[in-house]
Amino acid sequence: MSKLIWRDAREHAADVLSNYWDGITLPVPVAQISEKIGVTPLKAFLPDGLSGMIIKRPNEAARSYAEASESETRRRFTFAHELGHYVERVDVSNDNDFSFVDGRFPGRYNLHEFYADEFAGALLMPERQFMRMLEHGDSLIDIAARFGVSLDAARKRKERLEKNPPDSQVGEHA
Ligand SMILES: [Zn+2]
Repeated sequence: MSKLIWRDAREHAADVLSNYWDGITLPVPVAQISEKIGVTPLKAFLPDGLSGMIIKRPNEAARSYAEASESETRRRFTFAHELGHYVERVDVSNDNDFSFVDGRFPGRYNLHEFYADEFAGALLMPERQFMRMLEHGDSLIDIAARFGVSLDAARKRKERLEKNPPDSQVGEHA
């Protein structure tokens, strides 16, 4: 696996956005996008302590689950995170049989989880739109509301973009 996982995750999220998003609609319609890619997003009451999971079996469509008792913003992030697992497994590693289970509180944090979180942040908070609001001086509260994410997710995205700033304008279409 590449050492620059965050870069892979962001690039793959950008690929998904350019193929499945109109570039305008906010919040990004993550459930629709997930469905189009082949992961059916489902709201469910999950076993204690879980906030999300994804199951993919050979010859079956993938299903992702987000905990029904959590807020809409949390579920949106969960669906984006699970979609990140799917993209990483199916697209990047050509794996056809896998599952991930995500707890409500961060537990073991490994490269798969790092990838899925970075992917989710980049998918739900498209870089250009996010940076534009930041540069405009909008508050994180306004930003979180605009992108349909929790304040915590918006703060984390800001930190991640500060730690690993986006490449200038390279590769951007005219
Ligand atoms: Zn996960």
